[in-house]
Amino acid sequence: MHSARHCTASLPCAVCGNNQIKIIAKKDRNGQPLINVMCINCGLVWVDPQPTIECTEKFYASEYRKQYKKAFQPKHKHCYRETLRAIDRSTRFLSVYRDGMRVLDVGAGAGFFAYVLQRIGILIDGIEPNEEYANYARSNLQLNTIITGFLRDLTTENQYDLITINHVFEHMPNPREAMVQMHKLLKKGGHVLMEIPNIEAIYHAPNKIFHVGHLYWYNPNTIRALALQLGFLIDDIQIINGTKHINIVLTKCDESTVTEVEVNSLVAGNAEIISAVLQQHTMQRHFFTPTPYVRFLRKSHQYYKEQIYIKKFNNGKDICDSVCNKLLSIQKPN
Ligand SMILES: [Zn+2]
Repeated sequence: MHSARHCTASLPCAVCGNNQIKIIAKKDRNGQPLINVMCINCGLVWVDPQPTIECTEKFYASEYRKQYKKAFQPKHKHCYRETLRAIDRSTRFLSVYRDGMRVLDVGAGAGFFAYVLQRIGILIDGIEPNEEYANYARSNLQLNTIITGFLRDLTTENQYDLITINHVFEHMPNPREAMVQMHKLLKKGGHVLMEIPNIEAIYHAPNKIFHVGHLYWYNPNTIRALALQLGFLIDDIQIINGTKHINIVLTKCDESTVTEVEVNSLVAGNAEIISAVLQQHTMQRHFFTPTPYVRFLRKSHQYYKEQIYIKKFNNGKDICDSVCNKLLSIQKPN
């Protein structure tokens, strides 16, 4: 604490506009150089300097493809995992779903979340920057409303009752712009349902946290402060057990409902709280807690279970349907 040196960021904080920061990490989870800094005023964390937009777009065109087979289709184990995840997410905030509502999924990936929602009767549009993912959704899952592109490409206003955005917002190079864009796309009173990682999570070892794709890191206070400034009310916020992922439900209102003073009081002391969490999260302490061992056992068990499950299938859609049939208790239409 006594030697904490502050420096100036290459861009102002996206939450509070301050530019005084401290460096909190110099390497990513693969040991490659990557500077993450924290705003000393509000606790927002970001990669500094940020890569250029062109760089970010190239990353989503090439790096993410590596997770896929050469045929540009998700592996069967991913179809299985993504379907389970999608079902879990779809049941988390049931009160936001209504018959006939218009939903947009931002960063729709290969379409599993959209597919699961469709199975429970909600039709959903999607936007996905990766051509192969979007293609998979269209050709394999018959989700013709998933288009290739970025959130900012959408120009229509007041279209949607709900925007879902799961593990995407932290990848966005301009969080304020993304919030404003979602606000525009939503109808009056519409909702955003977002899941993002939490900088306070101590689920992973301290050297396995930062990632070149995660341009911003939030905790409940910073994401709240950002949304409140840009015309949203906070409907609900939940922290997932274990991973500590933040799930937040926002409601569009006419304009910002908070003053600068209120935003500052919301984040007062937040940087100190996050600093304390990160400082205490040392390698030694991490491996003295049950977390890494429990995670290892859980993952091994999951891997074994999914290998047994997916063996029976020849394609991803059948895996997805089978998991849906089992867990959603809705029969597949013939
Ligand atoms: Zn800040």
